Amino acid sequence: MHEILVTLTTVVVIGGSLALNIIGRAGWGARKPKFTQPMPNPVPFVVIHHSESPGACTTTSACIAAMKSMQNYHMDHNGWADIGYSFGVGGDGNAYEGRGWSTVGAHAPGYNNKSIGICLIGNWMYALPPDNQLQTVHQLIQYGVDQRKINPEYKLVGHRQVTATDCPGDRLFKEIQNWTHFTPKP
Ligand SMILES: [Zn+2]
Repeated sequence: MHEILVTLTTVVVIGGSLALNIIGRAGWGARKPKFTQPMPNPVPFVVIHHSESPGACTTTSACIAAMKSMQNYHMDHNGWADIGYSFGVGGDGNAYEGRGWSTVGAHAPGYNNKSIGICLIGNWMYALPPDNQLQTVHQLIQYGVDQRKINPEYKLVGHRQVTATDCPGDRLFKEIQNWTHFTPKP
């Protein structure tokens, strides 16, 4: 693997496929967390979410606005320390660092200290996220495995399997059931 570190962004070229582009917190103008709690790696679970609202974004400026809006809501309305998710993934094909790989999140009670929570920005109840957004999720998970942040034997679940919620939307939940690490009974 060939890794290029840029000031605000990590670009990872995996094989011959499109590059994974992770926009760090400074890159999207994240607020400072109120506090952080370290999370041991590698984690055994990946939890898939949708944002429902804000809706889908297709430009980087719109996806950054979505990340900021989720962070503001989680911190100011919910009273959480930070945006709840480990990462957001936009329809612009970028991954956005939330709490990141090694900080306990607030996205799935009972799993926050042992999972990476990935939010696909948009409402995926009836529509499937575009290919580039789905591909970025796959690349992000693979990168996490390669970096020993995620256990290679990880179990992947939808948020609704561990909390009473519609998340990650009916259509996206149907999609992730085809993914190799999907686990029907976490
Ligand atoms: Zn969720």
